[in-house]
Amino acid sequence: MTTKDQVSTPEQYEYKAEMKRLLHLIAHSLYTHPEVFLRELISNASDALNKVRIRALTDRDFEGRSESHRIEIVADKDAGKLRVSDNGIGMTREDLVDRLGTVASSGTLQFLEQVQSSGDAVDAQLIGQFGVGFYAAFMVADEIEVETRAAGDDSVGYRWSTTGEGTFTVEEIERDEIGTTVTLHLTEDHAGFAEEYRVREIIKKYSNFVPFPIFVGGVQVNKVQPLWRKKKDDIGDKELEEFYKFVANDYASPLGHLHLELEGRVNMRALLFVPSSAPPDLFRDDQHRGLHLYSNNVFIQDDNRDLLPDYLRFVRGVVDTDDLPLNVSREVTQASPVMSQISTVLTGKILGLLEGWSASEPETFDKFTEQFGSMFKTGVASDFSNKERIVGLLRYESTRTLPGE
Ligand code: ADP
Ligand code: MG
Repeated sequence: MTTKDQVSTPEQYEYKAEMKRLLHLIAHSLYTHPEVFLRELISNASDALNKVRIRALTDRDFEGRSESHRIEIVADKDAGKLRVSDNGIGMTREDLVDRLGTVASSGTLQFLEQVQSSGDAVDAQLIGQFGVGFYAAFMVADEIEVETRAAGDDSVGYRWSTTGEGTFTVEEIERDEIGTTVTLHLTEDHAGFAEEYRVREIIKKYSNFVPFPIFVGGVQVNKVQPLWRKKKDDIGDKELEEFYKFVANDYASPLGHLHLELEGRVNMRALLFVPSSAPPDLFRDDQHRGLHLYSNNVFIQDDNRDLLPDYLRFVRGVVDTDDLPLNVSREVTQASPVMSQISTVLTGKILGLLEGWSASEPETFDKFTEQFGSMFKTGVASDFSNKERIVGLLRYESTRTLPGE
């Protein structure tokens, strides 16, 4: 198949065996909530836009400085196609082969196979927690095409495409714009996702807090403004819950939350949540997610693990500080004394929240202990300065277990 703007013959690549199994599972075993595929595509677009925004802030010569960063969705009902475009960082040929052609985490496949062999229906909402990401689109599509061009003067455009059955192809194309367009050829069963109203509904449900405008048929759908910058009293319960679901990739309500506005030694705002249940891979280090970090309202990282000690790794949310420079690399962030100050403050506040539960909300505290107690306990050995407080919170558990346990 040749098209007008194709400038090389497509090169074919074979998926690894593991990837083939994963694709098969996604296409044939996930039935409930197939709409989460859109959240995954939008989240990738948003990641790509964040990268380009950080680059624009730190590199004066960067060509994409003046672009307005956005996500655009076109639903073509007649053709049964859905197209998600961003003017983000784009992908090189290597990115297409390495990043799009392989599964990020082998734990994902293991998990999906385990659940499947247990005979239970696998809920697609779990996908968000296991990072299948891009390939979630195979729940609703039988062909995916990606056209992209990476940021950089001398970059070229590529088209990547696959039907998910064993191979994918990459070919060079003419493309002027930096960024990525993902086109899904929807299956007959899921042709409904090419309806604009449907797409808007899904965005409102899952992607309302994405920090870039999302346009559907030319109309902006999401809110964009950061919730944690609002005054506490101005935030409704529903908004808070929606935000939690967005930031934690969860579908259940959180067990509780903290909204902090601090000025003084450290200046920051934070919106932190304790989920209502632990992910099955809580103890796996490579699945450790971390908090979203913003500096002066500009997104820096979505998985910062230095903001909280390891034993509080189940906490989800956002920290926005005025005290970090914008052009921070991960390494600089990690070494900054601001980070350890923030971590000390957040840890104290979270312990305070838990102490409050243990004193006056026994049911909530019970749930916490049941879900996260085993992880939390490890803090006794790792956090000297808070040892007493942690032990204080474990005593509650031991009064409820049998003597001698
Ligand atoms: P994750 O987002 O967790 O890394 P995904 O499966 O969702 O996993 O995406 C895999 C990779 O593909 C991303 O890490 C990124 O490198 C690349 N990618 C996907 N979509 C885009 C996009 N719109 N722009 C740039 N890169 C993308
Ligand atoms: Mg992703």
